[in-house]
Amino acid sequence: MNRRLDIGVRATCAAIVICGLVLALAGSGERPAARLRVMERRGRPGRYAAQFEAMSTDVLMEIAATGPEAAHRLLHAARAEIEGLASVLSAYDPQSDVSRLNTAGSALVAEPTREVIARAVEVSELTGGAFDVTYAPLRELWREAARRGSVPSEHELAEARAMVGYRKLAGDGRSVLLKGRGMRVDLGGIAKGYIIDRAVHALQDAGASSGLVDIGGDLRFFGEPAGRQKWRVQVRMPPGQKGALVLQVPACAVATSGDQARGFRVGDEWYSHIIDPRTGKPVRHAASVTVVAPDAMTADALATALSVLTPQEGMGLVDSLRDVECMILERTPGGPTRRLTSTGFAEFIEH
Ligand code: AMP
Ligand code: MG
Repeated sequence: MNRRLDIGVRATCAAIVICGLVLALAGSGERPAARLRVMERRGRPGRYAAQFEAMSTDVLMEIAATGPEAAHRLLHAARAEIEGLASVLSAYDPQSDVSRLNTAGSALVAEPTREVIARAVEVSELTGGAFDVTYAPLRELWREAARRGSVPSEHELAEARAMVGYRKLAGDGRSVLLKGRGMRVDLGGIAKGYIIDRAVHALQDAGASSGLVDIGGDLRFFGEPAGRQKWRVQVRMPPGQKGALVLQVPACAVATSGDQARGFRVGDEWYSHIIDPRTGKPVRHAASVTVVAPDAMTADALATALSVLTPQEGMGLVDSLRDVECMILERTPGGPTRRLTSTGFAEFIEH
């Protein structure tokens, strides 16, 4: 199982037994990989879960349903939503909206792409440009640096920085235009959250009253959990961090940024995959950031953005936002990681 899958959910998953139910997708000519295995949770009658891979990570969904057929119908609808959106928003699929836009500099794009870019721009405004989906030329510069084994020069950094800037994104309601030379977008810091939200809506629209959608450890709960008032989630911790942290939250989204495994090496030094668009350099101070928010797109984008902002800036921002809380694990020079929490975060921590 992918290590990015939330440990708590992994524990939940381990408690799942296959109840002998493997329902094939409608259309039996599908490849085995296309089958969706729906399992009833042990000791939790009426709670069903399914797990599969999308966007190179693990997806776990769990719902309340009246029976296995109903569960399959709901979960199948949500998986179709996830897979459809992933192919539109991915930077790796050459046919995706993002790839076509990056290649041509302008493209007619689907409504999800416009929606994610519009929200990304709002988060850019909110964070003074710390979050910026046009940061992609910097990502490429650092990938090249990793290949050649030496960090970019100040000149290279300045050149790539000049290609970045969410203010140079334009749209007319149907298409998106990159107005600057060399501009490119990468929705990696926000798309996962958007897709989680859309999957939750797909489940709700299909009639699910309660459940969760987890993509790569970022997740959103909806409705009431089985047999308790609050949802429980174990926060992913950076490597070397002792002790587990479990949150008890109402129906909301929880996202964590700081996945060490996604960073890269240049020479002897390990760098984060999150880049500060203002300096052009990978961020260093945040070992991990966890955001609790009403929706997953907000939680996902803010977790990335708060990894860029200083903890003081980040806390100030979060305290100004309604229903958003965060925890920042800050690296201190030579010392242990320092844990900072926003005003309302402490009440989520399970003791
Ligand atoms: P997450 O794991 O949600 O924090 O997302 C990290 C991803 O966000 C990276 O893999 C990049 O695709 C993207 N990213 C990195 N730096 C930034 C940035 N400053 N603004 C927006 N997206 C970023
Ligand atoms: Mg993010």
